[in-house]
Amino acid sequence: MTEQHQFLGRWEERWHPLREEWVIVAAHRQNRPWIGETLTHAEKTIPDYDPTCYLCPGNARVSGKQNDAYTGTYVFDNDHPCVGDGAPTEPPTPTGIYRNRPANGIARVACYNPKHNITLAESTLQEVQNLVTTWQREYTDLGNHPAVNHVLIFENKGEAVGVSNPHPHCQIYATNFVFKTIETEARASQRHFNETGRILFQEILAAEAQDQRRIICENEHAIAFIPYFGRYAYEVFVAPKQTRPSVAALTDAEVVDFAAVLRQVLIKFDNLWQMPFPYVMPLHQAPTDGGDYRNFHFHIEFHPPLRKPNLLKYLAGPEIGGGNFLSDTVPEEKAAELRALPDRHYRRA
Ligand SMILES: [Zn+2]
Ligand SMILES: [Zn+2]
Repeated sequence: MTEQHQFLGRWEERWHPLREEWVIVAAHRQNRPWIGETLTHAEKTIPDYDPTCYLCPGNARVSGKQNDAYTGTYVFDNDHPCVGDGAPTEPPTPTGIYRNRPANGIARVACYNPKHNITLAESTLQEVQNLVTTWQREYTDLGNHPAVNHVLIFENKGEAVGVSNPHPHCQIYATNFVFKTIETEARASQRHFNETGRILFQEILAAEAQDQRRIICENEHAIAFIPYFGRYAYEVFVAPKQTRPSVAALTDAEVVDFAAVLRQVLIKFDNLWQMPFPYVMPLHQAPTDGGDYRNFHFHIEFHPPLRKPNLLKYLAGPEIGGGNFLSDTVPEEKAAELRALPDRHYRRA
């Protein structure tokens, strides 16, 4: 056997049932285990109010509009939307096979907290619950708009994902199209139901419960885990245990439990390297295009870009060039790391 064949022989392909693609796990298992490395950076002191921040209460935004003197979560229409009602109705017709259409939608920003320096991880349980109810209201409100076929809510956090303003906030894109990953997940869920009579995400939860090694934390109504098919080192899913197509469908008791598990995950993330942990955090929710999505199971997916404190997971040949993820870590090991971390934030300890 050649050197290369031996190398490939240690790889494992894991099926991602929601994305319908293979994830390649190429971890070198002989590597030494992680040994509690922390980032040795001087943590910047961030004030709780920044007069130059366009998200702080009372401040003016680029458009000239002024933020209210808000005290809880605060939602406003984005001044620089990627999609907006102001899009031209008919773009110029392209040549040949190419086609286009107007981009319509509504883009909003939701500030989590009036304080410039309180991240979601450092928020109280009540504040996280308030955010979840804000998400419920926005999904329902925007989703009911006849031109809106999907509501994508997401937070980009940290300079590693291009965010320089630390004021904690998420964005909401209510669009006339369904984002591709959601479309794929909805199709996969429907096909699975047609073929087996069972809900795909419930089968994922059942497999995780059976194995146990990738579960981070759970309570009566919610659970967090790194799925068997996780693509990023710390790709945590947070989900209700009952199938609810959107955050808006959660019962009051589920909101409380979901917020608690979400907060526990965020605290563990920050405790991992004793630093604010960067991530992309999308809510995966059913489209609002009038289809039947009873089989769609709402969940949050964390896509953290770091493998280690100063080591980015670069998307390169396999991911960008080929379209499949090559993971250098094993979900079972990364889940064990997170599970072992304390549930009290290091800055509040
Ligand atoms: Zn601010
Ligand atoms: Zn998803």
